[in-house]
Amino acid sequence: MRQIENEAVALKNSALAQIRRKDNVFPVIGEGSYDAKIMFVGEAPGKNEAATGRPFCGASGRVLTQMIEHIGMKREEVYITNIVKDRPPDNRDPLPREIEQYAPFLDRQIEVIQPRVIATLGRYSMAYVMNKFGLEAEVKTISQIHGKVFAVKTSYGNATIIPLYHPAVALYQNSLKAQMFKDFEVINSIMHT
Ligand code: URA
Repeated sequence: MRQIENEAVALKNSALAQIRRKDNVFPVIGEGSYDAKIMFVGEAPGKNEAATGRPFCGASGRVLTQMIEHIGMKREEVYITNIVKDRPPDNRDPLPREIEQYAPFLDRQIEVIQPRVIATLGRYSMAYVMNKFGLEAEVKTISQIHGKVFAVKTSYGNATIIPLYHPAVALYQNSLKAQMFKDFEVINSIMHT
């Protein structure tokens, strides 16, 4: 993981890394237990995350923490990361070439942590992770497949992918909040099988 971090810090040919150096902020590699059974994969750091180097430490992070605690777990027990490790300016969505450039870091993090469950947060990480594990035929809109469970084979054994809404959705679409908490309960049911 240290090697991944060093390489991400030193990343060349990345406009986002150049902006990070100019703004004197941090890349966000990931946080949590290296023995985690569950890995959460968000999209890209926002302002708070780039300022601290920690994933999901702002408003949507508070929602994520609540949801993790809702299923009786602690943030420290899971591993939380993003596909893109540097903040896109003005919180814009990550571009396809940015996802392509940063995804190899995520691929290696998955190999290090070897999670039983990979819960994707938002449509970009859903699409990337599902395609990576051969689920391209199953990719639909997030409103169609949130909270569904997909069994996959990985280099280290069987794992489960669960696409979840991005926690920020709970902040601007209150009507989905209860459903989002219910989706998290699916993680719990898998962990106990
Ligand atoms: N949104 C994300 O997708 N990731 C973060 O780390 C913070 C907000």
